[in-house]
Amino acid sequence: MIDTHCHLYSVENPLEAARAPGLNALVVIGHTPDYARDALKLSRELEQVFVTVGLHPCDANLFSTETKTDLEELMLQPKVVGIGESGIDYYWDAAPKNLQLESLNWQLECARKLDKPIVIHTRDKDNSRQAFADCAVELKNAGWNKGILHCFAGDNGLLETGLELGFHVSFAGNLTYKNAQVIRDAAAIVPLERLLVETDAPYLAPMPYRGKRNTPAYVRFTLEKLAEIRGLSFEELERVTESNSRLVYQISQD
Ligand SMILES: [Zn+2]
Repeated sequence: MIDTHCHLYSVENPLEAARAPGLNALVVIGHTPDYARDALKLSRELEQVFVTVGLHPCDANLFSTETKTDLEELMLQPKVVGIGESGIDYYWDAAPKNLQLESLNWQLECARKLDKPIVIHTRDKDNSRQAFADCAVELKNAGWNKGILHCFAGDNGLLETGLELGFHVSFAGNLTYKNAQVIRDAAAIVPLERLLVETDAPYLAPMPYRGKRNTPAYVRFTLEKLAEIRGLSFEELERVTESNSRLVYQISQD
């Protein structure tokens, strides 16, 4: 199994969490310069840890010339396999829209320049679909073809744009929640070769651990649910999603 998206620094014992049995690799998200440095440190300690470097839309207030210089340097470090997470977040309203958009577009440029996938986060307020719609417009305009719609929440417009561009789609623990039929409907139609799984640990623990602290080993429960939705065996879906993860992040077998 590969956990394609986790925030391991905030798990009590990151070394132990990363060494969970059956976990062949994990991608730790460095979504500010400081978190990226932490993630890179962990990647030097553990072979199976890979890293993304970027700026989360909720941290877009940090977006400045200095931050860009800092992140650009970090993006060149060994074991960096992706850019982000970036995207649009109107749920927390933590940073103004113009900064979120500027930061996203800059990270899309970086991804293109470095030939790496961009990791996209989108979250809306109430039942508005504005973040999905705004994000789809930016992705379409940029036209970069390597990326991941992370923790996909099931928006048809964004899904269509992502798939057309060539993006992968990653499902998290909320796929297993009772009220998440919209997410399961999306998981049923994403082409098999674009499917990924993640934990987004320490958030969003899957059933039966909902509400508890999440950890990369729990990616198993999301895989189980996804296998059920797709009518495949656990082993088969594990093989497919692991190979998709290695392809999109360019993580070799040895
Ligand atoms: Zn995340």
